[in-house]
Amino acid sequence: MGTGFKVHCTCGYLGTADVGSTRAMLNKEDWFPFRCNQCKKLVDVDLLSNNMICPDCKSADLTSCETTTKRCRDWLGKLLGPRLRQRFGLHLRDDEIQENYCWQLKKSFILMREGNICPQCKQPNMRYVLDCMFD
Ligand SMILES: [Zn+2]
Ligand SMILES: [Zn+2]
Repeated sequence: MGTGFKVHCTCGYLGTADVGSTRAMLNKEDWFPFRCNQCKKLVDVDLLSNNMICPDCKSADLTSCETTTKRCRDWLGKLLGPRLRQRFGLHLRDDEIQENYCWQLKKSFILMREGNICPQCKQPNMRYVLDCMFD
């Protein structure tokens, strides 16, 4: 099962992102959004491919959109409040919009609802909105 997102940033940047894979390609493909630093846009890259490059410009200059903060327990996060959470690099489960567990890499790739770095203006003002599920 995969999930499609729309992304938008306060600078006006609009894009889409696909996460996961279809049932048919399960364990063969696992898509996740990356920022292409050449095209300055969001691209979907297969985490399982040996050669992770931008599908448009073929550049390898990609940055994963996974969160750099760690999920903390709800009670702790609420106790700290938003400013201290940010300072310690923590986030609440509610701040996540998608967790994609990759069985091959044995790793969770987490997308945040808000505060994502935009590929165009490089400011943390990009947000994801759930668009569709695909199968
Ligand atoms: Zn590119
Ligand atoms: Zn932007």
